[in-house]
Order: sequence, then C-alpha cells, then structure tokens
Amino acid sequence: MKKNLETLCVQAGWTPKKGEPRVLPIYQSTTFKYETSEQMARLFDLEDEGYFYTRLANPTNDAVAAKINALEGGVGCVLTSSGQAANFYAIFNICSAGDHFITSNTIYGGTYNLFGVTLKKLGIECTFVDPDWDDEHIEAEFRPNTKCFFGETISNPGGNVFDIERFARMAHRHGVPLIVDNTFATPINCRPFEWGCDIVTHSTTKYMDGHATQVGGAVVDSGNFDWDAHADKFPGLTTPDESYHGLTYTKTFGKKAYITKLVSQLMRDLGSIPSPHNSFLLNLGLETLHLRMPRHCENAQRVAEWLEKNDKVAWVNYCGLNGNKYYDLAQKYLPNGSCGVIAFGLKGSKEDAIRFMDNLDFIAIVTHVADARTCVLHPASHTHRQLSDEQLLEAGVRPDLIRLSVGIENSDDIIADLEQAMKKM
Ligand SMILES: *Cc1c(COP(=O)(O)O)cnc(C)c1O
Repeated sequence: MKKNLETLCVQAGWTPKKGEPRVLPIYQSTTFKYETSEQMARLFDLEDEGYFYTRLANPTNDAVAAKINALEGGVGCVLTSSGQAANFYAIFNICSAGDHFITSNTIYGGTYNLFGVTLKKLGIECTFVDPDWDDEHIEAEFRPNTKCFFGETISNPGGNVFDIERFARMAHRHGVPLIVDNTFATPINCRPFEWGCDIVTHSTTKYMDGHATQVGGAVVDSGNFDWDAHADKFPGLTTPDESYHGLTYTKTFGKKAYITKLVSQLMRDLGSIPSPHNSFLLNLGLETLHLRMPRHCENAQRVAEWLEKNDKVAWVNYCGLNGNKYYDLAQKYLPNGSCGVIAFGLKGSKEDAIRFMDNLDFIAIVTHVADARTCVLHPASHTHRQLSDEQLLEAGVRPDLIRLSVGIENSDDIIADLEQAMKKM
C-alpha cells in the first residue's frame, strides 16, 4: 500500500510480527547468534542473509534507515555516525586518488573543510563553484576525471536554495551523478530525487532528530544513476571487487550497486556506524518530523517578516520572504516551506551583535541548528572561525551574519525575546 509522507514518518521501517514489541526495539548487541558453524559460513559466503556484526548491519539501525529511505523515495539508505561521515562516504564511494569533483561553494563549513582540505590530502581534488554562475561558466569546470557534483538543498548557514533540476541536468550531461545534502529541507519539504538528483545525504543531527539528542547522518541512493553507461568513470562499481568475493556491484546488485558498495566496502573498512541507541532516538524524532517542519517554517516566516521590518536590522536572508533572491527557487522546490533557519545582520558593530546575543533570554547561543529550541550562532566567530574573511564571503557567510534557528515555541515569545535583546544593544 502506497503511503503518504506523514504515515511513513510514523509507520515506516519497523513492522513488528506477532508478539514482537510495538515500538522499535534497541538491539544493543555487537553480534548475533547462529546454531551451527555452517549457518555462519553461509552468511560469509553471501548465500544467506542475516545479521552477524553491527558494524555491517544492525536491526535497529536498519529499521531507521528504511524509514529515511521510504521518506526520500530511494532504493537503499545507510545510516552513519554523523553528517560529516555521510558526506565523506557519499563522495569517497565513487572518488579515489586522482579524481575530481565539483561542489557548490555555499555549503556547510564542515563540509567545506572536508572537501577542500581533508579530501585533498587523500588525492581527491574539488572545485568550488558559485551556483549563481551561468551554465557555461560552471560547465567549463568539468574535467575528464570529474566524478560528481555536490550541493545543499538549502545551504547552511547562507540560506541559498539550490536549483536541483538545473544542476542534475548539467551533471548528467557530463556523465556524473548529482549528490544533494538535504539536511535543512528534509524530505517533508523537498525530495531531491523527484528533481533528478541521484544521491541524497543528511545530517540527521538536525531536524530529523529534532531534539538535539544524537549526532548522525544518512546516505540515500535513488538507484537512478546508470553507472554502467559510464563504466570507465566508475570502475569501483563496474569491475570486480577483489575484497568482496570478486563480484561486480552493478552486475550483482543492479539499482542498489552504489549503496551496497558503500556498506560492504566503506562501512566495513572505515566503520562510522551509529549506535543502535542513537538510531532509536533518531526514530523518535522522525515520528514527528511531519508535525514539526510546518511549525518551524510558520514560526520562521513570522520572525523573518518581523526582522525585515525592524530598523535595527541591516538585512535578512530567508527564502520565504517575497523579494528574496531565492524566493522563486523556493516556490519551485519548497512550496510548503523551507526550514526554520534565518540569516540576518544587525546594524552597528560586531560588539553590538555580541551584546544582542548575550542578552537573549531563552534563545540560547549554541553550536547547533534545526532543533525544537530556538537558538543563535555567529558563524564568523563560532562554526566558521577557521575560514578567512575571503573564504567566508565565498561560502556565502557575511562576517556580520547571525544564524537564527527558529524553534517550535510560540512565535510571539520568540519575537519578544529578540525585541528585548535588541533594546539592550
Ligand atoms: C550539520 C551539517 C552537516 C554535518 O553534520 P554532523 O551531523 O554535524 O556531522 C552536514 N551538512 C549540513 C547541511 C549540516 O547542517
């Protein structure tokens, strides 16, 4: 039976059989028992399916991955121990030393570093492009060894909306997949696969969890990219893997080639799995994702409109504001709302901004976004402090930018708190 997103949030993933717990159980066990040595041998020979070691698969983790997979409409999903691990695996699954990929430059600071510094040390080169450039300018960056294109549906913290259809078209013209980090939109507000994206990643730490209780990530495969059609670019998927019984992923697993390789090679060797307990917490968050997202958006819209009219505020960036640079793209990709994160700048000095943040009452200064509680952060002095001013601007982060993550409290109270703190500036 085909179910709507709201039902999938509550029901997908765990379907208990007779006498089993109604609520997803936490299988807090590293290993799983079999009766005979032969049963175990059959698992290792890939002749039987079954759990044997939690690094490779765990029933709690799998149930939550299945829920996220259903929400995104993919063929397979893998949970990781963080959003960073998810983005690393998504790229590293198809890029190795000597390869190149292209990314939008308006991405999360941690991802910016991962791509520009750490992957570079592994011999993987990345070109940062401004998504506002014209097609010709961006397409000039594709090289024979380019393996994918990367962007964020709604960028953190800049709030830019990524034109998924346009970049999918460009990537596919060059025979490579489009990978989209869908953390801020969540599948409730945007399902990138419907716009031609091939692989979706998430930091589940944010709205999916929604309560700031666990750090986690996910990679979801649409199954739509035809690796065999570009076999020379993706030998890891289209030629035998000697470390895995000499099988060829595209031949043996078809549409699930990419996601199967990610588990059986990267997870096996690098091991960034979430704990089953964290997956349990993530699942509790997912059960109300469809209720929380509209409330985050409704509150953020009201707060953004209030900020825009406030004479202490220099500028506001929220794609739900009519007249915003990304308003039209948001109407297309995010018709039901974008997210709760607003970027704005205050008139006055950096010290004024700091005084404003220090005077907030229940709105807290925390290194987090996208959970139930409203919070603020000044990326230039917090999350992005490793970037130079030039890099900050390149990443779409103005030095005076305050990132306000609007929670699900009463919006009158959120506005009242902002107002009293501004009065003390
Ligand atoms: C937070 C974030 C990440 C990194 O996720 P962690 O769970 O903190 O490792 C990646 N992408 C985006 C868009 C994020 O907001």
